[in-house]
Amino acid sequence: MKEETDISIIIPAYNEQENVSLLYKELKIVLENINKSFELIFVDDGSTDKTLENLKYLHEKDSRVKIIVFEKNFKKSAALSAGFNEAKGRIVFTMDADLQDDPKEIPKFLKKLDEGYDLVSGWKFKRFDPITKTLPSKFFNFLTRKMTGVNIHDSNCGFKAYKQRVIKNVSVYGELHRYIPALSNWKGFKVGEIKVCHRPRKFGKSKYGTKRLVSGFLDLITVKFLTEFDKKPLHFFGSIGLISGFAGFLMLLYLFILKLFLSKSIGQRPLLLLGILLVILSVQFFSLGLLGEMVTFNSKKENYIIKETIQ
Ligand code: UDP
Ligand code: MG
Repeated sequence: MKEETDISIIIPAYNEQENVSLLYKELKIVLENINKSFELIFVDDGSTDKTLENLKYLHEKDSRVKIIVFEKNFKKSAALSAGFNEAKGRIVFTMDADLQDDPKEIPKFLKKLDEGYDLVSGWKFKRFDPITKTLPSKFFNFLTRKMTGVNIHDSNCGFKAYKQRVIKNVSVYGELHRYIPALSNWKGFKVGEIKVCHRPRKFGKSKYGTKRLVSGFLDLITVKFLTEFDKKPLHFFGSIGLISGFAGFLMLLYLFILKLFLSKSIGQRPLLLLGILLVILSVQFFSLGLLGEMVTFNSKKENYIIKETIQ
């Protein structure tokens, strides 16, 4: 059995050379102040700058700093999964490496967990990000709340705290990390939220662009599907099938009436054929995509490669 620690903090870092040392200092002060044993698990997600070098330096000074080094950039969800697998803490935190999350909030998370919550998600109430990021994010969170029924305002916030049994039971792949609250709630865990202070990024660049809008939307559909139709896919595929079947039936009925009662020729209606063809194609593509998601979700294979673990 692994030896237990009070708190594990998982920090995915991709080209954050200036930030990691400063974050380490801030974390150390806060965690030593509350008298808890802790480990800091930095996941170097294929950085090409001096991030790893700086982390190794921290590790030499303080053995509570652990480093998981990825072979290449496998993205944040993979980094979080690797951290979850390594974490020995009774309570596990995740936070960004870019100093935007303030370690001083940690005691507030702990208090909320003590109140009986299994997962506490941060809510960047006042955000220091450009409007091109905050506006789409607001829209997404609204959509996520409506679609998943989990009342969290800032699902994508990297600052979260979990009780151990949550991370042992909720797995993430792809870019699904932003829906961990919805997935956890689905498994029956109690999900809470606290407002956290958010700081502007001082060093380095944000790694996410507009691409995540599209992938975020597709992921939301996946989460909705996985949480609602996981055990009864037929309810999902069946309803699409029914609707398209019904539409097709109406079209054919219309043509049937034209032919039978008005003696019109119906052989020359390319538009109708095209319509039917497109409906069938879209249903098939959609179903295939969702089936693929289910297979991925249930396969236990890790989607990252660890180059070395320094502990
Ligand atoms: N990150 C990562 N792998 C990636 C992209 C980002 O580990 O491929 C880390 C990054 O170093 C940071 C966190 O994920 O610690 C959040 O990234 P970022 O600040 O770029 O996202 P934003 O705050 O702009 O949403
Ligand atoms: Mg950031």
